Amino acid sequence: MTIRALRQYLEQLSSSGIRELYLPQVDKGALLNDLQARYSTCAKCPLALGRIKFVYGEGNPEAIAMIIGEGPGDQENRTGRPFVGEAGKLLDRMLAAINIQREEVYIANIVKCRPPGNRNPESAERQACLPYLLEQIWIIKPRLFLMLGLVAAQTLLESRLSMENLRRQTHLFQGIKTYVTYHPAALLRNPHWKRPAWEDLQRFQKDYEALTKV
Ligand code: URA
Ligand code: SF4
Repeated sequence: MTIRALRQYLEQLSSSGIRELYLPQVDKGALLNDLQARYSTCAKCPLALGRIKFVYGEGNPEAIAMIIGEGPGDQENRTGRPFVGEAGKLLDRMLAAINIQREEVYIANIVKCRPPGNRNPESAERQACLPYLLEQIWIIKPRLFLMLGLVAAQTLLESRLSMENLRRQTHLFQGIKTYVTYHPAALLRNPHWKRPAWEDLQRFQKDYEALTKV
């Protein structure tokens, strides 16, 4: 099946609301690359105005775990890659501390273009961008989510609970087990959250290892 035919197939499925069918044998990486190129000039919301580079997401198309942040910052806008600035470096160290290489997982954000001055993306911007993330999730079909920060968690879990509440339990997002913890940018500002974040990561690690190490 060509990428073009697959794309049409995906469009048909999403317009018919079907989400549970298996993708036919497909090179997920090629499909994601194709979609990234196709969406990179998106103008569905005003965040397009500040875009240098569209930040679709990156990582292992067969990832067991997906890590979801908020939106690109300055470095991400310049490079087109998620989590490469200071918060990204901390994320790499957090993952390394639980024995996960960045390349093993798939990393994406709620919005794909940088909000001006790193403000939180507005509700309309999140809603405009969400179909791209949902499609990525549908293609990758992870077994575990780690949501970083309130923007990701509240948007996807449709919750207004605080971080303190959200991180204490696991959740189901689209039937997939979900952990919530502090955003690394928040940890850089408030180092006293590092300890609770470390506890969250250790719980996440247990599940991750149970799924990956047979
Ligand atoms: N913060 C995010 O939420 N995502 C990035 O990609 C970078 C910083
Ligand atoms: Fe399109 Fe998302 Fe960028 Fe808005 S943030 S312009 S919806 S890609």
